[in-house]
Amino acid sequence: MGFATKAIHAGNKPDPTTGAVSVPIYQTSTYAQDGLGRHKGFEYARTQNPTRSALEENIAALENARFGFAFASGMSAIDATLKLVKAGEHVILGHNTYGGTFRLFDRVLSDYGVEFDLADTSDIASLETHFKPNTKMVFVETPTNPIMTLTDLAAVSELAHSRGAKVVCDNTFMSPYFQRPLDLGVDIVLHSTTKYLNGHSDSVGGFVALNDEKDAEWIGFIQNAVGAILSPFDSFLVLRGTKTLAVRMDAHDRNGRMVANFLAEHPRVEKVYYPGLASHPQHELAKRQQSGFGGMVSFDTGSLENARKVLESVKLCTLGESLGGVESLISHPATMTHASVPAEARQQLGITDGLVRVSVGIEDADDILADLDQALS
Ligand SMILES: *Cc1c(COP(=O)(O)O)cnc(C)c1O
Repeated sequence: MGFATKAIHAGNKPDPTTGAVSVPIYQTSTYAQDGLGRHKGFEYARTQNPTRSALEENIAALENARFGFAFASGMSAIDATLKLVKAGEHVILGHNTYGGTFRLFDRVLSDYGVEFDLADTSDIASLETHFKPNTKMVFVETPTNPIMTLTDLAAVSELAHSRGAKVVCDNTFMSPYFQRPLDLGVDIVLHSTTKYLNGHSDSVGGFVALNDEKDAEWIGFIQNAVGAILSPFDSFLVLRGTKTLAVRMDAHDRNGRMVANFLAEHPRVEKVYYPGLASHPQHELAKRQQSGFGGMVSFDTGSLENARKVLESVKLCTLGESLGGVESLISHPATMTHASVPAEARQQLGITDGLVRVSVGIEDADDILADLDQALS
């Protein structure tokens, strides 16, 4: 079955009671049982909910995964996954992951005895030097935010597996439409469904997809034991969102390419970061590993003053954090998403004060280009 067909049909069976074509929002906390020890497979809604199960089947199918689990946020999905790592074990973390992921390691997990090192996962030779005898996991994000650096997922998986470590990939930026890490050898895929999967900027959620039965059993156990489940209503929203994932991602990609090309030619722009540009240092890897380039584009305006002028002059693009919604969003990484990263580390990552990030939406491309043009001039 093709991707768009799966997006619409996987998990979306007509409701057995009424025939409702849309999976209903089962807004219930508990279920009537037929007798002692006799029930319909549903006991309590933290443990099982039909709306959530439908979404779990749907996104698992899109990632070509055997198992899927929906969580209350991307961060709770990441936290549940890291409960596969025990005190005294070591994780190699990409040096430019989502800020919340770094914070979870730095401020929470380290207090529970989980060791971690930061590494540039785009450089396999340097990554290799970070392995220790107790390394259990390599955690990567590709492309990274906001500099759009790629990690070769097949190469990292091969290296990590030869060292007895698992690979986890946060696939939020690409969505399963453009990149399917499990097919490349990755063990566990994570999502903030808040972004492209839901796609309409009206729900916060997270997802874990994987093939290994034993790890899946543990993630399912944690989901129930800790309880950071996605609500029935949010499950319904994300299930509605994924039905149009294919058409939305194609539109984000089309507009993303146009915005990147426009900015690359613009005299007021010093540098553009977009894997779809032939000038991107990993353009070849992007073409091999992804089936599209998506809608995330960053560009350097040269100074904080220039960035401020652009960010405060846009009319169509909305100034705000987050990404992946139908509407174009514009942000300033140095003072917004990456404000907690020390200035020196920001500089090393290329996150200058003049850097601006756009989550290109699916409005008419001409309107987005006109807005950026007037803001730049
Ligand atoms: C937003 C985001 C997260 C965190 O997800 P929440 O849904 O906000 O908890 C994790 N990783 C990436 C890449 C993100 O963009």
